[in-house]
Amino acid sequence: MQTLNDTSKLDAIIVGSGPAGATLANELPKRGQKVAILEWGTHEPINPLTH
Ligand SMILES: Cc1cc2nc3c(=O)[nH]c(=O)nc-3n(C[C@H](O)[C@H](O)[C@H](O)COP(=O)(O)OP(=O)(O)OC[C@H]3O[C@@H](n4cnc5c(N)ncnc54)[C@H](O)[C@@H]3O)c2cc1C
Repeated sequence: MQTLNDTSKLDAIIVGSGPAGATLANELPKRGQKVAILEWGTHEPINPLTH
């Protein structure tokens, strides 16, 4: 993870790292776009489903 010092160097700022945001963050750099993701949630480990 990097500290964001200069947003003028970005093409897009993605709010949220759910499936939609993560897909954009994966695809836009392939097209030469510089992106940053803002995520307010916590980092939680993925646990196996138990139902
Ligand atoms: C209990 C439950 C079970 C589900 N099970 C399935 C399943 O089995 N299969 C399936 O296909 N789908 C399932 N879904 C649906 C699936 O979770 C959603 O369709 C999918 O997560 C939507 O993705 P999204 O990226 O649009 O939004 P989200 O996954 O909601 O991601 C949004 C992200 O943005 C962040 N965020 C929001 N506001 C801000 C802000 N102001 N600043 C910074 N960050 C912010 C949030 O923390 C979050 O990480 C389930 C949903 C629920 C609630």
